[in-house]
Amino acid sequence: MMRQYELVERVRRYNPHADEELLDRAYVYAMKAHGAQRRASGDPFYSHPLEVAAILTDLKLDDATIVAAVLHDVIEDTDSTREEIERIFGPDIARLVEGLTKLKRLDLVSKRAVQAENFRKLLLAIAADVRVLLVKLADRLHNMRTLRFMPPEKQARIAEETLEIYAPLAGRMGMQSMRDELEELAFQHLMPEAAATIKTRLDELRKKNGKIIASVEKELRDELSMRGIEASVEGRQKLPYSIWRKMERKSIAFEQLSDIFGFRVCVNKVEDCYRVIGVVHTKWPSVPGRFKDYISTPKENDYRSIHTTVVGPGRQRVELQVRTHDMHDVARYGIAAHSLYKDGRVADREILTRESRAYQWLQRTIDLLAEGDSPEEFLEHTKLELFPDQVFCFTPKGQLIALPRGATPIDFAYAVHTDVGNSAVGAKINGRIAPLGSELQNGDEVEIVRAEGQVPPAVWEKLVATGKARAAIRRATRDAVRTQYTNLGKQIVMRAFERAGKPFAEDKLKAALPRLARLGIDEVLAAVGRGEIYSGDVVKAVYPDFSEDRKGVAQPSRPEEGWFGLPKAESLVFKFPGRTSESAPLPIHGLQGDLPVRFAPNGGAVPGDRIVGILTPGEGITIYPIQSPDLTAFDDQPERWLDVRWDLEAGHQGFFPARILVTAINEPGTLGMIATVIGDMGANIDNITIHVISPDFREMIIDLEIADLKHLNGVVSELRTKPVVSKVERVNG
Ligand code: MN
Repeated sequence: MMRQYELVERVRRYNPHADEELLDRAYVYAMKAHGAQRRASGDPFYSHPLEVAAILTDLKLDDATIVAAVLHDVIEDTDSTREEIERIFGPDIARLVEGLTKLKRLDLVSKRAVQAENFRKLLLAIAADVRVLLVKLADRLHNMRTLRFMPPEKQARIAEETLEIYAPLAGRMGMQSMRDELEELAFQHLMPEAAATIKTRLDELRKKNGKIIASVEKELRDELSMRGIEASVEGRQKLPYSIWRKMERKSIAFEQLSDIFGFRVCVNKVEDCYRVIGVVHTKWPSVPGRFKDYISTPKENDYRSIHTTVVGPGRQRVELQVRTHDMHDVARYGIAAHSLYKDGRVADREILTRESRAYQWLQRTIDLLAEGDSPEEFLEHTKLELFPDQVFCFTPKGQLIALPRGATPIDFAYAVHTDVGNSAVGAKINGRIAPLGSELQNGDEVEIVRAEGQVPPAVWEKLVATGKARAAIRRATRDAVRTQYTNLGKQIVMRAFERAGKPFAEDKLKAALPRLARLGIDEVLAAVGRGEIYSGDVVKAVYPDFSEDRKGVAQPSRPEEGWFGLPKAESLVFKFPGRTSESAPLPIHGLQGDLPVRFAPNGGAVPGDRIVGILTPGEGITIYPIQSPDLTAFDDQPERWLDVRWDLEAGHQGFFPARILVTAINEPGTLGMIATVIGDMGANIDNITIHVISPDFREMIIDLEIADLKHLNGVVSELRTKPVVSKVERVNG
């Protein structure tokens, strides 16, 4: 474990003005605070914050960051308070330690959606001071180095989180060394066999090719010094995780990888970089398409270098990176390499913002989060890299909702709250009305339009990607259907008791449940509503001596509405004079000449339907909606099919035939009510056929004359709202 004087020495090595007394005070404070606490490894706990501080001295960071690292676990794990730390170490350090304490609490959650939200919080937490992030990453690195002492399930979770969040974030901040080590450690824990296999192969290759590396190094060095360029040349193997990732990404075998070796040339001045490239390209042929100049155009994370690949000695492909020593520091340490964090100077955000693209990215990201006005950019730069299989959307208030790719506004609504999902009737995506089945994109702001008393349609199940939404839709539709049948059954039962002249009471029905072989009153009512139990049998179950006089039942209470009271009627047909215009030309494209046209005899067709014409020689053309089952009769006669479509621009004012099937309770007034609804909606009844399907229900086949599909759908919806109506559907044949 690092001794007190060692810590000071490490800092002194790069910062002669380090506050020795402050560092000593922190060391002693942490040791006392953590006392006899132990780590999973058995080491004294305070060895951990000291190791974290040591990692940060490698990054040559300022006193405050080092001290914050030494103290980073004291608020969470000991009796220390922020106030005490502020008193002893000042407000700057107290703020850093408090920020780290908040982040520590985030680590405890592992669920993916929660993790996304935590990532947002992580970025917000480092908004105050980027040094918090540097300590956090060093903390994670030391925990990864000692991960083997943790229980296996914790190892997996921590390693996964490291690979998904901390390593990419380190990369985004340009801290390549940190990223590499985090990735390699996580890889070894998550895929020990793959890691071991690749390592073995690399060792074999190194034995075989070690001489080649040394000779290429020497050749390069000689070549450059001959031309008076001062340079350090270093050959190296790629790391196992980056090799594995490449094999995965390109689905190739280890043997097919061509660039396992790379060489790095570091020089003093920028112009030397270009001179090196000139020398290399003169000596060896370059591989086309592999030259990249990140010096003139740095990467978003401040990385600068020139990359090229040449065909080197022994026809080996050799990858080269050329950069200055300063660029090399930035490439390894990223934002931490910035001079503002060194030499005991306080980080000046303005200068940092001006000089570091990585810091600009971070600031921009954080600003976006804080303002919540352009989430797209935020996500573009962060989550896409971190969570490729998720989309991140926002509520109008800026709450982040993480969903799997392919999710729709319905998933979004249920993710917010089950009630929001159940009452959703529409959605606005980025302020525009959008179908509820639209696929959400990263950064979408989604507003759910709600209406109370809604029931989610069962077809929604097909539009959702999340299990949560699917389960909720199933539950809600099941409940709604049961309620509907129960209400319907209750009406029927009340009427039946009334007709029998017997009082209805729930407790009496309760006593009769065994006779009906049902467990509850609602169950009986729902069964009556579904037509499984006849309402007269319910009356008899409650009053066993009651004998039903069917004729009595049949008496309509009001004669003019009595059509429905005829229980034994097989069917009743009412024919009305039609008003379909025969004279006006039909608004249909694709008709042939003056052939007579009629509409499908069993169900008709209306503007808005997709239609086909069937030609019958000697008779004319019959127009069918495409969904009509009658069309199968013409399947083997393709020569009779005509390509026709409605001319919706024609502004035709006529009426067209359509057929609906209505199932309703058998009671006085029902038919009158249905006829009224249809009349009030401006549609006309051409024909009604009534079937007795059970004593409690009647089925009506109604031929309508209607303006178009929208009109028809309006009539159907309106009929469905009536309590006596149990089912309405369109019939096509
Ligand atoms: Mn820690």
